[in-house]
Amino acid sequence: MASGDSKVVVIGSGVGGSGCAALLAQKGFDVTVLERNSFPGGKAASFERDGFTYDTGVHAVGSGDSGPLGDIAREVGADLQWALIQGNRIVLGDKVATYPLDYASDESIHAILDGIGVSPENRDDCYICFKELATLKPDSEMEVLDSMTLKDYVSQFTDDFQFHMMMNAVCGMLIVVTYFTGSAGEFIYCFANMATSSSLSYPRGGMGAIARSYLGALERLGGKVEYDRPVESIIVEDGRVAGVQAGGRIDADIVISNMGLQPTARMLSDHLPAEYLDKVLKLRSSYGAVSVKYALDAEAVPYPMTLWIPDVNDAEALEKYVGMMYPVPSIPDPDLAPPGCQLVLAGAVLSADPRQKELNSNVLDRIEATMRMLHPGIEDHVIWKLRTDVEYTSNISGRHLGEVVGISQDYRQVGKNRPSPNMPVAGLYAVGADAGGRGIGTEMAAESAITVSRMVEDFALGR
Ligand SMILES: Cc1cc2nc3c(=O)[nH]c(=O)nc-3n(C[C@H](O)[C@H](O)[C@H](O)COP(=O)(O)OP(=O)(O)OC[C@H]3O[C@@H](n4cnc5c(N)ncnc54)[C@H](O)[C@@H]3O)c2cc1C
Repeated sequence: MASGDSKVVVIGSGVGGSGCAALLAQKGFDVTVLERNSFPGGKAASFERDGFTYDTGVHAVGSGDSGPLGDIAREVGADLQWALIQGNRIVLGDKVATYPLDYASDESIHAILDGIGVSPENRDDCYICFKELATLKPDSEMEVLDSMTLKDYVSQFTDDFQFHMMMNAVCGMLIVVTYFTGSAGEFIYCFANMATSSSLSYPRGGMGAIARSYLGALERLGGKVEYDRPVESIIVEDGRVAGVQAGGRIDADIVISNMGLQPTARMLSDHLPAEYLDKVLKLRSSYGAVSVKYALDAEAVPYPMTLWIPDVNDAEALEKYVGMMYPVPSIPDPDLAPPGCQLVLAGAVLSADPRQKELNSNVLDRIEATMRMLHPGIEDHVIWKLRTDVEYTSNISGRHLGEVVGISQDYRQVGKNRPSPNMPVAGLYAVGADAGGRGIGTEMAAESAITVSRMVEDFALGR
């Protein structure tokens, strides 16, 4: 079968689905994307309100144009522009460190360690640990580190409390699990790539610009996208995929699901080996997140991105406030807000179970209390405020959980223990953050898109 003879249906237009669809169209496949929402992008979508463009979540992209998202755009000719996010901060209680894009230089590491209050006797050990975390390792070493927790890794170097706090917080920000279960290998992959590329970025036009630009390229390459087109089932005949049901039958030689590995496995449970199904359904997901999006009539927050953690020795602060990340996307991309105005996205992580309504509401209240404490007067500038909970994420991505990333980068399920995107039905693949990539959220989905597009090409050409 040549690529031009192969009809491909991609279910879902998240970063993984849209990227893979565009890459396959570029390789000459006949590609149709079916999306259940009326808009593209899934967990990385953007919306407009009163001249502001805000995102599903609270975002920053680790390597921007230098990473896999930029690679796909170049490969398919997508018009995707980036703005660097510079002058970022990490705040632990009353300790503040500002770091540059190139945060692994000797000077930056020392400034960060001083800023967060590492004790002088631990400084050298913390420096060595930081440097190691910011350095990519050979595959053989990464394989060992994949199965180790970040906490155990850091503990080999130092027991400095402030340093551990910082690394746990950064782990939460990058792979959205705590450092008690987050994989050291996966963390190093993210942290070192960010440091090496020195291009932490925001897509111009909002996170939704990523999927929109890929789908624009797909259509220019002859592919199709249909919105409001939920796939109800995947058709399997004679042990291989034959198409999908989406308000009618659509034939396909290859089906690529961006619905998530577990939802896809559940949909196909009658056709999958029991052992495979059991293993996939037991995989753990990353945490969920809630966010408060602020549309302000003034530039009230002067920092492009802050990771803020309360002082853990201050019981009152722990009760009133919450650790959170709050980028201000309209600083790197002023077009996201009307002139003189500002868009601030503040988010905190918690269980991915959308049924925990009370917890969601409590954490949202604490995000607002934290913002009022950190930026007094912010409420006087609110044009509108939007509180989004875990259920909001689950509704947008079409999954029963509202996890931020996907299958979590837990030390038990990355590297060689990560599920393959090649599902055990001929012609069926999973694409997106769940399988086939590594890295930070959208970049993991993009890596998966690249991997799956190569697998599909090999399959179609009988390689
Ligand atoms: C609050 C929050 C903050 C985040 N912050 C960052 C960040 O700072 N940096 C970063 O890189 N990443 C971040 N992420 C993670 C990142 O957004 C995701 O990991 C990534 O976008 C997942 O992409 P995906 O391709 O796996 O699929 P998804 O985004 O899950 O998209 C799946 C698509 O499939 C569609 N679909 C599902 N079922 C069907 C069906 N039956 N028929 C048709 N279509 C269907 C959905 O509607 C959706 O469009 C964040 C996510 C959240 C929620």
